[in-house]
Amino acid sequence: LIALEDVRKRFGENEVLKGVTLRVEPGEVVAIIGKSGSGKSTLLRCINGLETIDDGSIMVADAKLGSSELQLRKLRLKVGMIFQQFNLFPHLTVGRNVMLSPIVSKKAGTAEAEALARVMLQRVGLAHRFDAWPSELSGGQQQRVAIARALAMQPMALLCDEITSALDPELVNEVLGVVRSLAADGMTLLMVTHEMRFARDVCDRVVFMHQGRIHESGPPGEIFNRPATPELRQFLGMIE
Ligand code: ATP
Ligand code: MG
Repeated sequence: LIALEDVRKRFGENEVLKGVTLRVEPGEVVAIIGKSGSGKSTLLRCINGLETIDDGSIMVADAKLGSSELQLRKLRLKVGMIFQQFNLFPHLTVGRNVMLSPIVSKKAGTAEAEALARVMLQRVGLAHRFDAWPSELSGGQQQRVAIARALAMQPMALLCDEITSALDPELVNEVLGVVRSLAADGMTLLMVTHEMRFARDVCDRVVFMHQGRIHESGPPGEIFNRPATPELRQFLGMIE
């Protein structure tokens, strides 16, 4: 579904992605782990077309990602992204926040978008908060609305960048629970996370990034129990 081939990205002199090759199959749940600055967010942003790449190729659903604005816009409709900060529009109700993208992208008319928003809010357990304001919700609930908003575009895959890192510890599980149910429903997920237990329990594969490269990758059991490289062993020791 997503295929990266020798992707390179630099900011000025700083080469941040030094030839990343990665395939994500439909329905696969892949965790990306690695130290701060290893290029995890940049990788997701390249896949979503938020950054242009300097070399290599990215295919999403068998379409090669070029750099034309039109293509980028199409790509963003197919691949949803959720960030650490939920960035809901404070002056719009929860329901309107979720309805916005399908309407703006002309994927749906108002009535259809509302129906879609109700379904997606139901999926994240917040159907009853359709008319609430974002400020009335907890951080965990706001992040679930952000997930519903991404789902409203009916994406083929979701990219999640540390979506629980800004949350109080007691709110982390409700968001991870939603992700877990999406995974169980067959959603293709590529997620940068520091939640190692979650990665171990839910992900099919774990990718360890180090200095702009995929240093190691494999099933969670292998990555966590039998890390092959000193860099991964050090990383796991550092955070466990
Ligand atoms: P973290 O765990 O802290 O989120 P990360 O693995 O997501 O780290 P990136 O955000 O991808 O790392 O950053 C990788 C490198 O690219 C860093 O050295 C960062 O300073 C640099 N970088 C990222 N975005 C930009 C930008 N827009 N302009 C210049 N440099 C950038
Ligand atoms: Mg990051």
